[in-house]
Amino acid sequence: MNQLPNSIEARDVAFQLHSYMDARKHEENGPLVIEKGDGIFVEDNNGKRYIEGMAGLWSVAVGFGEKRLVEAAARQMEKLPYYHTFTGKTHGPSVELAEKLVAMAPVPMSKAYFTNSGSEANDTAIKLIWYRSNALGKPERKKIISRVRGYHGVTIASASLTGLPNNHRSFDLPIENILHTSSPHYRSMKKDGESEQDFAKRCAQDLEDMILAEGPETIAAFFAEPVMGAGGVVVPPEGYWEAVQPILKKYDILFVADEVICGFGRTGNMFGTETFKLEPDIMTLSKALSSSYLPMSALLVNEKVYGPVADESHKIGVWGHGYTASGHPVAAAVALENLKIIEERDLVGHVRDISPTFLKRLHALSEHPLAVESRGIGLIGAVELHHDEMSKTPGVLGARTNMAFHEGGLISRNMGDSMAFCPPLIISEKEVNDMFDIAEAGIETISKAL
Ligand code: PMP
Repeated sequence: MNQLPNSIEARDVAFQLHSYMDARKHEENGPLVIEKGDGIFVEDNNGKRYIEGMAGLWSVAVGFGEKRLVEAAARQMEKLPYYHTFTGKTHGPSVELAEKLVAMAPVPMSKAYFTNSGSEANDTAIKLIWYRSNALGKPERKKIISRVRGYHGVTIASASLTGLPNNHRSFDLPIENILHTSSPHYRSMKKDGESEQDFAKRCAQDLEDMILAEGPETIAAFFAEPVMGAGGVVVPPEGYWEAVQPILKKYDILFVADEVICGFGRTGNMFGTETFKLEPDIMTLSKALSSSYLPMSALLVNEKVYGPVADESHKIGVWGHGYTASGHPVAAAVALENLKIIEERDLVGHVRDISPTFLKRLHALSEHPLAVESRGIGLIGAVELHHDEMSKTPGVLGARTNMAFHEGGLISRNMGDSMAFCPPLIISEKEVNDMFDIAEAGIETISKAL
Protein backbone atom coordinates (compact mmCIF):
# COMPACT_ATOMS: atom_id res chain seq x y z
CA MET A 1 0.00 0.00 0.00
CA ASN A 2 1.06 3.56 -0.68
CA GLN A 3 2.17 4.76 2.78
CA LEU A 4 2.55 8.47 1.98
CA PRO A 5 0.44 10.29 4.60
CA ASN A 6 -1.57 12.19 2.02
CA SER A 7 -2.06 9.30 -0.39
CA ILE A 8 -5.62 8.26 -1.09
CA GLU A 9 -4.74 4.83 0.35
CA ALA A 10 -3.60 6.28 3.68
CA ARG A 11 -6.60 8.62 3.88
CA ASP A 12 -8.96 5.75 3.12
CA VAL A 13 -7.54 3.73 5.99
CA ALA A 14 -7.63 6.77 8.26
CA PHE A 15 -11.23 7.78 7.62
CA GLN A 16 -13.33 5.05 6.06
CA LEU A 17 -14.98 1.97 7.53
CA HIS A 18 -15.60 -0.45 4.66
CA SER A 19 -18.36 -2.90 3.89
CA TYR A 20 -17.62 -6.62 4.02
CA MET A 21 -14.06 -6.30 5.34
CA ASP A 22 -11.90 -7.36 8.23
CA ALA A 23 -11.26 -3.77 9.38
CA ARG A 24 -7.91 -4.55 11.06
CA LYS A 25 -6.65 -6.36 7.97
CA HIS A 26 -7.73 -3.40 5.89
CA GLU A 27 -5.64 -1.09 8.10
CA GLU A 28 -2.63 -3.27 7.24
CA ASN A 29 -3.26 -3.92 3.56
CA GLY A 30 -5.00 -0.75 2.43
CA PRO A 31 -7.54 -0.42 -0.36
CA LEU A 32 -7.57 -1.02 -4.08
CA VAL A 33 -8.34 2.39 -5.55
CA ILE A 34 -10.49 2.22 -8.67
CA GLU A 35 -10.33 5.43 -10.66
CA LYS A 36 -12.28 4.94 -13.84
CA GLY A 37 -14.16 2.52 -16.00
CA ASP A 38 -15.25 1.90 -19.57
CA GLY A 39 -17.16 -0.99 -21.06
CA ILE A 40 -16.37 -4.12 -19.06
CA PHE A 41 -13.12 -2.63 -17.71
CA VAL A 42 -12.12 -0.63 -14.66
CA GLU A 43 -8.71 0.91 -14.00
CA ASP A 44 -6.89 1.46 -10.72
CA ASN A 45 -4.81 4.47 -9.70
CA ASN A 46 -1.64 2.79 -10.94
CA GLY A 47 -3.09 2.48 -14.43
CA LYS A 48 -3.70 -1.29 -14.18
CA ARG A 49 -6.79 -2.39 -16.09
CA TYR A 50 -9.12 -5.17 -14.97
CA ILE A 51 -12.00 -7.00 -16.55
CA GLU A 52 -14.79 -6.32 -14.05
CA GLY A 53 -15.99 -9.91 -13.96
CA MET A 54 -18.64 -9.07 -11.35
CA ALA A 55 -20.14 -5.98 -13.05
CA GLY A 56 -19.28 -4.17 -9.80
CA LEU A 57 -21.65 -5.94 -7.43
CA TRP A 58 -23.66 -7.93 -10.01
CA SER A 59 -25.03 -4.66 -11.25
CA VAL A 60 -23.49 -2.62 -14.08
CA ALA A 61 -25.50 -4.21 -16.90
CA VAL A 62 -24.69 -1.67 -19.63
CA GLY A 63 -21.01 -1.37 -18.70
CA PHE A 64 -18.98 1.47 -17.24
CA GLY A 65 -18.76 4.87 -18.94
CA GLU A 66 -22.16 4.78 -20.68
CA LYS A 67 -22.57 8.41 -21.82
CA ARG A 68 -26.32 8.13 -22.34
CA LEU A 69 -26.81 7.58 -18.62
CA VAL A 70 -24.57 10.53 -17.80
CA GLU A 71 -26.59 12.74 -20.15
CA ALA A 72 -29.94 11.48 -18.82
CA ALA A 73 -28.80 12.35 -15.29
CA ALA A 74 -27.54 15.78 -16.34
CA ARG A 75 -30.78 16.63 -18.18
CA GLN A 76 -32.88 15.68 -15.17
CA MET A 77 -30.53 17.47 -12.74
CA GLU A 78 -31.02 20.69 -14.70
CA LYS A 79 -34.79 20.35 -14.81
CA LEU A 80 -35.69 19.01 -11.36
CA PRO A 81 -32.76 17.65 -9.33
CA TYR A 82 -34.90 16.42 -6.48
CA TYR A 83 -38.43 16.01 -5.48
CA HIS A 84 -40.27 13.49 -3.34
CA THR A 85 -43.29 11.26 -3.70
CA PHE A 86 -44.84 11.78 -0.23
CA THR A 87 -48.35 13.10 0.44
CA GLY A 88 -49.56 12.85 -3.14
CA LYS A 89 -46.69 14.68 -4.84
CA THR A 90 -45.19 13.15 -7.94
CA HIS A 91 -42.98 13.91 -10.95
CA GLY A 92 -42.57 12.67 -14.51
CA PRO A 93 -39.61 10.30 -14.10
CA SER A 94 -41.15 8.31 -11.21
CA VAL A 95 -44.50 8.00 -13.01
CA GLU A 96 -42.84 6.93 -16.25
CA LEU A 97 -40.66 4.37 -14.50
CA ALA A 98 -43.56 2.93 -12.48
CA GLU A 99 -45.63 2.58 -15.67
CA LYS A 100 -42.69 1.00 -17.50
CA LEU A 101 -41.96 -1.55 -14.76
CA VAL A 102 -45.60 -2.60 -14.38
CA ALA A 103 -45.73 -3.07 -18.17
CA MET A 104 -42.49 -5.08 -18.20
CA ALA A 105 -43.56 -7.41 -15.37
CA PRO A 106 -43.92 -10.98 -16.63
CA VAL A 107 -46.84 -11.65 -14.27
CA PRO A 108 -49.75 -9.27 -13.57
CA MET A 109 -48.55 -6.55 -11.25
CA SER A 110 -50.56 -3.65 -9.96
CA LYS A 111 -48.20 -1.00 -8.57
CA ALA A 112 -44.53 -0.08 -8.31
CA TYR A 113 -43.05 1.31 -5.08
CA PHE A 114 -39.61 2.91 -5.10
CA THR A 115 -36.76 2.43 -2.65
CA ASN A 116 -32.99 3.00 -2.85
CA SER A 117 -31.30 -0.36 -2.32
CA GLY A 118 -32.08 -4.04 -2.52
CA SER A 119 -32.13 -4.20 1.27
CA GLU A 120 -34.71 -1.43 1.49
CA ALA A 121 -36.84 -3.07 -1.18
CA ASN A 122 -36.95 -6.36 0.76
CA ASP A 123 -37.40 -4.57 4.07
CA THR A 124 -40.33 -2.66 2.58
CA ALA A 125 -41.75 -5.92 1.21
CA ILE A 126 -41.81 -7.30 4.78
CA LYS A 127 -43.61 -4.18 6.02
CA LEU A 128 -46.18 -4.40 3.21
CA ILE A 129 -46.76 -8.06 4.06
CA TRP A 130 -47.22 -7.43 7.79
CA TYR A 131 -49.47 -4.42 7.12
CA ARG A 132 -51.53 -6.57 4.74
CA SER A 133 -51.95 -9.34 7.32
CA ASN A 134 -53.27 -6.77 9.79
CA ALA A 135 -55.52 -5.30 7.10
CA LEU A 136 -56.99 -8.76 6.47
CA GLY A 137 -57.67 -9.23 10.18
CA LYS A 138 -55.03 -11.96 10.40
CA PRO A 139 -52.47 -10.45 12.76
CA GLU A 140 -51.09 -13.92 13.52
CA ARG A 141 -49.89 -14.28 9.90
CA LYS A 142 -46.49 -12.63 10.34
CA LYS A 143 -43.84 -15.33 9.94
CA ILE A 144 -41.66 -15.23 6.88
CA ILE A 145 -39.64 -18.07 5.41
CA SER A 146 -36.47 -17.56 3.39
CA ARG A 147 -33.65 -20.01 2.69
CA VAL A 148 -30.26 -20.97 4.05
CA ARG A 149 -27.69 -19.31 1.72
CA GLY A 150 -30.27 -16.84 0.40
CA TYR A 151 -29.18 -13.19 0.23
CA HIS A 152 -31.72 -10.43 0.65
CA GLY A 153 -29.74 -7.56 2.14
CA VAL A 154 -28.35 -6.16 5.37
CA THR A 155 -30.94 -3.97 7.10
CA ILE A 156 -32.16 -5.51 10.34
CA ALA A 157 -35.09 -7.26 8.68
CA SER A 158 -33.50 -8.02 5.29
CA ALA A 159 -30.31 -9.31 6.98
CA SER A 160 -32.60 -11.57 8.98
CA LEU A 161 -33.97 -12.93 5.70
CA THR A 162 -30.43 -13.48 4.46
CA GLY A 163 -29.43 -17.04 5.29
CA LEU A 164 -25.68 -16.56 5.74
CA PRO A 165 -23.90 -16.77 9.11
CA ASN A 166 -21.74 -13.66 8.58
CA ASN A 167 -24.84 -11.50 8.32
CA HIS A 168 -26.17 -12.74 11.67
CA ARG A 169 -23.10 -13.42 13.80
CA SER A 170 -22.48 -10.68 16.40
CA PHE A 171 -25.45 -8.68 15.09
CA ASP A 172 -27.96 -10.55 17.29
CA LEU A 173 -29.87 -11.57 14.18
CA PRO A 174 -32.14 -12.94 12.84
CA ILE A 175 -35.09 -11.17 14.40
CA GLU A 176 -38.01 -13.33 15.49
CA ASN A 177 -40.61 -14.55 13.01
CA ILE A 178 -38.06 -15.10 10.24
CA LEU A 179 -37.29 -18.74 9.47
CA HIS A 180 -34.86 -20.39 7.07
CA THR A 181 -35.71 -23.49 5.09
CA SER A 182 -33.13 -25.70 3.40
CA SER A 183 -30.66 -24.50 0.81
CA PRO A 184 -31.31 -25.83 -2.70
CA HIS A 185 -27.63 -26.59 -3.33
CA TYR A 186 -27.72 -30.12 -4.70
CA ARG A 187 -24.06 -31.17 -4.45
CA SER A 188 -23.50 -30.18 -0.82
CA MET A 189 -26.97 -31.09 0.49
CA LYS A 190 -27.94 -34.25 -1.38
CA LYS A 191 -28.07 -37.63 0.31
CA ASP A 192 -26.08 -40.56 -1.08
CA GLY A 193 -27.56 -41.67 -4.38
CA GLU A 194 -30.31 -39.03 -4.33
CA SER A 195 -31.25 -37.75 -7.80
CA GLU A 196 -31.57 -34.03 -8.48
CA GLN A 197 -35.35 -34.42 -8.88
CA ASP A 198 -35.64 -36.28 -5.58
CA PHE A 199 -33.49 -33.68 -3.86
CA ALA A 200 -35.74 -30.91 -5.21
CA LYS A 201 -38.78 -32.75 -3.87
CA ARG A 202 -37.10 -33.12 -0.49
CA CYS A 203 -36.41 -29.36 -0.36
CA ALA A 204 -40.10 -28.75 -1.05
CA GLN A 205 -41.03 -31.30 1.62
CA ASP A 206 -38.74 -29.52 4.12
CA LEU A 207 -40.59 -26.30 3.35
CA GLU A 208 -43.99 -27.94 3.81
CA ASP A 209 -42.85 -29.59 7.06
CA MET A 210 -41.75 -26.21 8.38
CA ILE A 211 -45.07 -24.61 7.41
CA LEU A 212 -47.02 -27.39 9.14
CA ALA A 213 -44.83 -27.34 12.25
CA GLU A 214 -45.22 -23.58 12.62
CA GLY A 215 -48.91 -23.56 11.69
CA PRO A 216 -49.84 -22.51 8.13
CA GLU A 217 -52.06 -19.72 9.47
CA THR A 218 -48.93 -18.03 10.92
CA ILE A 219 -46.89 -17.98 7.70
CA ALA A 220 -47.25 -14.81 5.63
CA ALA A 221 -44.65 -15.10 2.89
CA PHE A 222 -41.76 -16.92 1.28
CA PHE A 223 -38.78 -14.95 -0.06
CA ALA A 224 -36.38 -16.39 -2.64
CA GLU A 225 -34.00 -15.41 -5.39
CA PRO A 226 -34.74 -17.26 -8.66
CA VAL A 227 -30.98 -18.06 -8.73
CA MET A 228 -29.08 -17.50 -5.48
CA GLY A 229 -26.30 -15.00 -6.00
CA ALA A 230 -24.21 -14.05 -2.98
CA GLY A 231 -24.85 -17.45 -1.39
CA GLY A 232 -22.48 -18.86 -4.03
CA VAL A 233 -24.47 -18.77 -7.30
CA VAL A 234 -26.85 -21.65 -6.68
CA VAL A 235 -28.95 -22.53 -9.71
CA PRO A 236 -31.99 -24.41 -8.39
CA PRO A 237 -32.07 -28.14 -9.03
CA GLU A 238 -34.29 -29.59 -11.74
CA GLY A 239 -37.92 -29.56 -10.59
CA TYR A 240 -37.34 -27.28 -7.59
CA TRP A 241 -39.69 -24.44 -8.43
CA GLU A 242 -42.30 -26.86 -9.79
CA ALA A 243 -42.34 -28.53 -6.36
CA VAL A 244 -42.12 -25.41 -4.20
CA GLN A 245 -44.74 -23.16 -5.81
CA PRO A 246 -47.78 -25.44 -5.31
CA ILE A 247 -46.98 -25.59 -1.59
CA LEU A 248 -47.08 -21.80 -1.33
CA LYS A 249 -50.42 -21.80 -3.17
CA LYS A 250 -51.79 -24.62 -1.00
CA TYR A 251 -51.28 -22.60 2.20
CA ASP A 252 -52.02 -19.19 0.65
CA ILE A 253 -48.50 -17.92 1.33
CA LEU A 254 -47.28 -14.87 -0.60
CA PHE A 255 -44.27 -15.39 -2.82
CA VAL A 256 -41.64 -12.65 -3.05
CA ALA A 257 -39.18 -13.13 -5.92
CA ASP A 258 -36.00 -11.25 -5.11
CA GLU A 259 -34.95 -10.27 -8.63
CA VAL A 260 -32.23 -7.90 -7.41
CA ILE A 261 -29.56 -9.87 -9.29
CA CYS A 262 -31.64 -11.87 -11.78
CA GLY A 263 -33.74 -8.95 -13.04
CA PHE A 264 -33.12 -7.24 -16.40
CA GLY A 265 -31.53 -9.99 -18.43
CA ARG A 266 -29.03 -11.82 -16.25
CA THR A 267 -30.51 -15.31 -16.68
CA GLY A 268 -31.26 -14.95 -20.40
CA ASN A 269 -34.79 -13.59 -19.95
CA MET A 270 -35.77 -10.15 -18.75
CA PHE A 271 -36.55 -11.66 -15.32
CA GLY A 272 -35.59 -14.84 -13.47
CA THR A 273 -39.35 -15.17 -12.92
CA GLU A 274 -39.68 -15.97 -16.65
CA THR A 275 -36.70 -18.33 -16.74
CA PHE A 276 -38.18 -20.46 -13.95
CA LYS A 277 -41.89 -19.85 -14.64
CA LEU A 278 -42.47 -18.25 -11.26
CA GLU A 279 -45.69 -16.58 -10.14
CA PRO A 280 -44.60 -14.08 -7.49
CA ASP A 281 -46.95 -11.67 -5.71
CA ILE A 282 -44.09 -9.23 -5.15
CA MET A 283 -40.89 -8.73 -7.15
CA THR A 284 -37.99 -6.75 -5.72
CA LEU A 285 -35.70 -5.06 -8.24
CA SER A 286 -32.44 -3.12 -8.06
CA LYS A 287 -28.86 -3.24 -9.40
CA ALA A 288 -29.33 -3.61 -13.21
CA LEU A 289 -32.47 -1.44 -12.92
CA SER A 290 -30.18 1.61 -13.07
CA SER A 291 -26.96 -0.33 -13.77
CA SER A 292 -26.14 1.06 -10.30
CA TYR A 293 -25.13 4.42 -11.80
CA LEU A 294 -27.36 5.81 -9.09
CA PRO A 295 -28.97 4.03 -6.14
CA MET A 296 -32.43 2.85 -7.14
CA SER A 297 -34.65 -0.08 -6.29
CA ALA A 298 -38.29 -0.94 -6.65
CA LEU A 299 -40.97 -3.37 -5.63
CA LEU A 300 -43.73 -4.54 -7.89
CA VAL A 301 -46.82 -5.73 -6.03
CA ASN A 302 -49.90 -7.44 -7.38
CA GLU A 303 -53.51 -6.59 -6.59
CA LYS A 304 -53.64 -9.25 -3.88
CA VAL A 305 -51.02 -7.22 -1.99
CA TYR A 306 -52.00 -3.72 -3.05
CA GLY A 307 -55.75 -4.05 -2.40
CA PRO A 308 -55.68 -4.75 1.36
CA VAL A 309 -52.76 -2.33 1.87
CA ALA A 310 -54.70 0.45 0.15
CA ASP A 311 -57.82 -0.34 2.22
CA GLU A 312 -55.84 -0.30 5.47
CA SER A 313 -54.17 3.01 4.60
CA HIS A 314 -57.64 4.41 3.97
CA LYS A 315 -58.97 3.04 7.23
CA ILE A 316 -56.17 4.47 9.39
CA GLY A 317 -55.57 7.48 7.17
CA VAL A 318 -52.00 6.81 6.07
CA TRP A 319 -49.56 4.22 4.75
CA GLY A 320 -46.90 5.48 7.12
CA HIS A 321 -43.87 4.52 5.09
CA GLY A 322 -41.57 6.27 2.62
CA TYR A 323 -37.97 7.30 2.01
CA THR A 324 -36.82 10.83 1.29
CA ALA A 325 -35.36 9.58 -1.98
CA SER A 326 -38.15 7.11 -2.98
CA GLY A 327 -38.49 7.45 -6.76
CA HIS A 328 -35.72 10.08 -6.90
CA PRO A 329 -36.16 11.88 -10.23
CA VAL A 330 -32.51 11.69 -11.31
CA ALA A 331 -32.21 8.00 -10.40
CA ALA A 332 -35.53 7.31 -12.14
CA ALA A 333 -34.39 9.16 -15.29
CA VAL A 334 -31.18 7.12 -15.31
CA ALA A 335 -33.11 3.87 -14.79
CA LEU A 336 -35.45 4.72 -17.69
CA GLU A 337 -32.52 5.43 -20.03
CA ASN A 338 -30.78 2.27 -18.83
CA LEU A 339 -33.89 0.17 -19.60
CA LYS A 340 -34.10 1.84 -23.00
CA ILE A 341 -30.52 0.76 -23.73
CA ILE A 342 -31.21 -2.80 -22.54
CA GLU A 343 -34.20 -2.97 -24.92
CA GLU A 344 -32.71 -1.10 -27.91
CA ARG A 345 -29.55 -3.20 -27.88
CA ASP A 346 -31.51 -6.35 -27.12
CA LEU A 347 -29.11 -7.19 -24.31
CA VAL A 348 -31.38 -10.04 -23.23
CA GLY A 349 -30.99 -11.61 -26.69
CA HIS A 350 -27.26 -10.90 -26.44
CA VAL A 351 -27.07 -12.78 -23.12
CA ARG A 352 -28.77 -15.75 -24.79
CA ASP A 353 -26.33 -15.56 -27.72
CA ILE A 354 -23.16 -15.56 -25.67
CA SER A 355 -24.33 -17.66 -22.73
CA PRO A 356 -23.27 -20.95 -24.42
CA THR A 357 -19.67 -19.66 -24.66
CA PHE A 358 -19.82 -18.32 -21.10
CA LEU A 359 -21.13 -21.63 -19.74
CA LYS A 360 -18.75 -23.74 -21.84
CA ARG A 361 -15.76 -21.84 -20.49
CA LEU A 362 -17.17 -21.85 -16.94
CA HIS A 363 -17.80 -25.58 -16.97
CA ALA A 364 -14.32 -26.16 -18.45
CA LEU A 365 -12.88 -24.62 -15.26
CA SER A 366 -14.50 -27.39 -13.25
CA GLU A 367 -12.30 -29.92 -15.09
CA HIS A 368 -9.32 -28.57 -13.15
CA PRO A 369 -8.21 -30.87 -10.32
CA LEU A 370 -8.64 -27.99 -7.85
CA ALA A 371 -12.33 -27.57 -8.81
CA VAL A 372 -15.28 -29.58 -7.55
CA GLU A 373 -18.20 -28.00 -9.36
CA SER A 374 -19.34 -25.23 -11.66
CA ARG A 375 -22.81 -23.71 -11.61
CA GLY A 376 -24.28 -21.21 -14.01
CA ILE A 377 -27.09 -19.95 -16.20
CA GLY A 378 -27.29 -17.03 -18.64
CA LEU A 379 -24.38 -14.75 -17.70
CA ILE A 380 -23.97 -15.69 -14.06
CA GLY A 381 -21.86 -18.51 -12.74
CA ALA A 382 -19.37 -19.80 -10.21
CA VAL A 383 -16.70 -22.44 -10.00
CA GLU A 384 -16.19 -24.03 -6.60
CA LEU A 385 -12.64 -24.95 -5.63
CA HIS A 386 -11.48 -27.37 -2.99
CA HIS A 387 -8.15 -28.32 -1.44
CA ASP A 388 -8.18 -30.79 1.45
CA GLU A 389 -5.80 -28.80 3.63
CA MET A 390 -6.75 -25.20 2.76
CA SER A 391 -10.50 -25.74 2.57
CA LYS A 392 -10.52 -26.66 6.27
CA THR A 393 -10.99 -22.91 6.61
CA PRO A 394 -13.48 -22.05 3.85
CA GLY A 395 -12.55 -18.93 1.94
CA VAL A 396 -8.76 -19.17 2.26
CA LEU A 397 -8.37 -20.89 -1.12
CA GLY A 398 -11.00 -18.57 -2.62
CA ALA A 399 -9.19 -15.47 -1.37
CA ARG A 400 -5.86 -16.68 -2.76
CA THR A 401 -7.43 -17.46 -6.09
CA ASN A 402 -8.98 -14.01 -6.08
CA MET A 403 -5.48 -12.55 -5.70
CA ALA A 404 -4.24 -14.60 -8.64
CA PHE A 405 -7.14 -13.38 -10.80
CA HIS A 406 -6.38 -9.85 -9.65
CA GLU A 407 -2.73 -10.20 -10.71
CA GLY A 408 -3.93 -11.39 -14.09
CA GLY A 409 -6.27 -8.41 -14.48
CA LEU A 410 -9.63 -9.89 -13.52
CA ILE A 411 -11.92 -8.82 -10.71
CA SER A 412 -13.98 -11.73 -9.43
CA ARG A 413 -15.47 -12.36 -6.01
CA ASN A 414 -14.94 -15.39 -3.84
CA MET A 415 -17.85 -16.56 -1.79
CA GLY A 416 -16.09 -19.05 0.43
CA ASP A 417 -14.15 -21.11 -2.10
CA SER A 418 -16.57 -20.41 -4.96
CA MET A 419 -15.32 -17.94 -7.55
CA ALA A 420 -18.16 -15.92 -9.10
CA PHE A 421 -18.51 -14.52 -12.60
CA CYS A 422 -21.22 -12.01 -13.40
CA PRO A 423 -19.86 -9.61 -16.03
CA PRO A 424 -21.66 -6.62 -17.55
CA LEU A 425 -24.33 -7.84 -19.98
CA ILE A 426 -22.60 -5.99 -22.85
CA ILE A 427 -19.57 -8.30 -22.68
CA SER A 428 -18.52 -9.64 -26.10
CA GLU A 429 -17.73 -13.24 -26.90
CA LYS A 430 -14.03 -12.40 -27.19
CA GLU A 431 -14.11 -10.69 -23.79
CA VAL A 432 -15.81 -13.75 -22.25
CA ASN A 433 -12.91 -15.81 -23.55
CA ASP A 434 -10.36 -13.28 -22.26
CA MET A 435 -12.01 -13.37 -18.83
CA PHE A 436 -11.88 -17.15 -18.58
CA ASP A 437 -8.31 -17.27 -19.97
CA ILE A 438 -7.25 -15.17 -16.97
CA ALA A 439 -9.32 -17.31 -14.58
CA GLU A 440 -7.85 -20.53 -15.98
CA ALA A 441 -4.30 -19.22 -15.65
CA GLY A 442 -5.03 -18.00 -12.10
CA ILE A 443 -6.33 -21.38 -10.95
CA GLU A 444 -3.33 -23.08 -12.55
CA THR A 445 -0.92 -20.70 -10.75
CA ILE A 446 -2.53 -21.43 -7.38
CA SER A 447 -2.61 -25.14 -8.06
CA LYS A 448 1.13 -25.19 -8.86
CA ALA A 449 1.94 -23.18 -5.73
CA LEU A 450 0.15 -25.63 -3.42
N1 PMP B 1 -31.10 -9.12 -2.82
C1 PMP B 1 -30.16 -9.71 -3.57
C2 PMP B 1 -30.54 -10.93 -4.35
C3 PMP B 1 -28.87 -9.19 -3.63
O1 PMP B 1 -27.94 -9.80 -4.36
C4 PMP B 1 -28.56 -8.03 -2.91
C5 PMP B 1 -27.18 -7.39 -2.95
N2 PMP B 1 -26.14 -8.16 -3.34
C6 PMP B 1 -29.56 -7.45 -2.12
C7 PMP B 1 -30.82 -8.01 -2.10
C8 PMP B 1 -29.29 -6.25 -1.27
O2 PMP B 1 -29.09 -5.15 -2.07
P1 PMP B 1 -28.33 -3.84 -1.49
O3 PMP B 1 -26.90 -4.21 -1.31
O4 PMP B 1 -28.56 -2.84 -2.59
O5 PMP B 1 -29.01 -3.46 -0.24
